[in-house]
Amino acid sequence: MQIIILPDEVASQIAAGEVVERPASVVKELLENALDAGADEILIKIEKAGKKRIEVMDNGIGIPLNQMALAVSRHATSKLRSAEDLHKIKTLGFRGEALASIGSVSHMTLLSRTEEHEMGGRIEVHGGQVNKIEYDGMPVGTTVRVRDLFFNVPARLKFLKTDHTERRRIDEFITRYATAYEGVSFDLQHDSKTVLQTSGNGDRREVLASLYGLELAKQMLEVSFHEGDFHIEGYISPISLTRSNRREITFFINGRWVQDNTLTSSLLRAYQNYLMVGRYPVAFLFVRMPPALVDVNVHPAKAEVRFQDSGDIFRRVQRSVRRALMSYSPVPQIPSRLWHPHPGQEREEIRVQMPFPEDEVGDALKEETSVENMSQANLPHSQIPLLRLIGQIGATYLVAEGPDGLYLIDQHAAHERVLFEKFLKGEPAGRASQALLEPATITLPPEKARIIEEHLPVFKEIGVHVDPFGPNTFRVQAVPGFLAGADPVSIVQVVVEDFEEDETPLEKEEEKRIIARICKRAAVKGGQVLSVEEQQKLLQDLENCQSPRTCPHGRPTMIHLSVDLLEKQFGRRGSR
Ligand code: ADP
Ligand code: MG
Repeated sequence: MQIIILPDEVASQIAAGEVVERPASVVKELLENALDAGADEILIKIEKAGKKRIEVMDNGIGIPLNQMALAVSRHATSKLRSAEDLHKIKTLGFRGEALASIGSVSHMTLLSRTEEHEMGGRIEVHGGQVNKIEYDGMPVGTTVRVRDLFFNVPARLKFLKTDHTERRRIDEFITRYATAYEGVSFDLQHDSKTVLQTSGNGDRREVLASLYGLELAKQMLEVSFHEGDFHIEGYISPISLTRSNRREITFFINGRWVQDNTLTSSLLRAYQNYLMVGRYPVAFLFVRMPPALVDVNVHPAKAEVRFQDSGDIFRRVQRSVRRALMSYSPVPQIPSRLWHPHPGQEREEIRVQMPFPEDEVGDALKEETSVENMSQANLPHSQIPLLRLIGQIGATYLVAEGPDGLYLIDQHAAHERVLFEKFLKGEPAGRASQALLEPATITLPPEKARIIEEHLPVFKEIGVHVDPFGPNTFRVQAVPGFLAGADPVSIVQVVVEDFEEDETPLEKEEEKRIIARICKRAAVKGGQVLSVEEQQKLLQDLENCQSPRTCPHGRPTMIHLSVDLLEKQFGRRGSR
């Protein structure tokens, strides 16, 4: 066969494969264009998760009439002049590919007017075929309407996920940009219903409040870090506010949302030792740095970046976050009477060092595996002997004496176990719902709100009564009796997080998994001082459990130092 240069339409369709993967990528490109055009009002209308229609309307500078045809052709951009410029990109776009790509796989209408012109123009592209430009009256700004995405690429259509999933990707994206661009007013509508709206008045905490609820916005700690031409600003959660996944860790570099391991791990490093295993902070961090030090031209979708010196970035992010954590919420000072003579040291240092063989404690030390050992309830009882409470240490562990030695009990893990078994047993007072005296409200970003809406029956099933209460806001009316006293909002949060990670429908085991996670959230924490009565009660409840030795996730609730072991350790007997 002869070699030919591909016709533009074909080349565009191939390029579109990289740039336009799904409705959310169209939204992303159009939104970036609107922001590059300096818009401060952006309206996004979506129909059928973007599969039917995506429309982005902005009040930016617009496109001059005589350049509209260029705008929709390949490698046409106003943002880049030479290869040199690639090292100092200040705009979100620069590849000149988006409009051409989108136009090649949809019916696209571009409407635009600049301030200099009385009339705007309209151009239509159908599967890469460009119609001629016509005059059209409209306000200054640009509107791009994309209908029937992938109508001419059936293979792509087949790869799209459910409306629910595609919609969530759009929502996640807009939510992030709405927090990053606090001076821009966003309005996102799905099927004519507004699901996200920000005022654009420049107050980022207010944006957080409208998207994530007042409670979260109030608690977030401010990060403000400036070193030369390196700036990190934003909000991070205090150590008391955590999530079970990393989804709410958001980084922007020079105005662009990036998902980057260096950034995430530097943040997590800053929190190290302050969060329990498996818990993650919430963070919105906006980094500004010289464009020359970060390469954004790594991938057509521009979501990846490459740092010239990633170690440097790592240290700065870590430092900025540490500083914020320290100045706002000094690490709780845990009195460590028994293990450390000087109170006020970091918690890390009071970790009990045990100089004896692994297997003495190790057999229960399983990693947190998928689900609770479901079968455990059927196992022969691994009960513990009657224990005599000695007291609490480090506000984290109970110390007790049994007939065969000393027991150290992790109060959090133990309480988790106790709650979980109350649920399993379905004690009348346990599983039945108990109305809250004061219903609690919870506001969530749209993608999470949808999860609740779609799983209302599940909530009911496990005894959590939730009602819609305004846009993206819900009211918790009742929680299961065995959780009375726990924070209802964090209970709902746990269930949402659970569904975020796994969208499969609820099955029997699934229910247990969710309950196990709720128990974890509701259980007393390490670092919480308990009264002697509370300690007694916890110990007693634990004694009554069927599987008192592990928490529902398989980690040990207790360490047993047998008399035998003590004697060996003190050199009274054996192993000299
Ligand atoms: P890129 O953004 O990489 O330059 P695009 O294909 O997305 O490429 O857009 C091509 C050009 O069309 C842009 O460089 C810009 O000049 C113009 N343009 C696109 N969208 C808008 C908009 N919303 N407002 C103003 N100009 C726009
Ligand atoms: Mg663009």
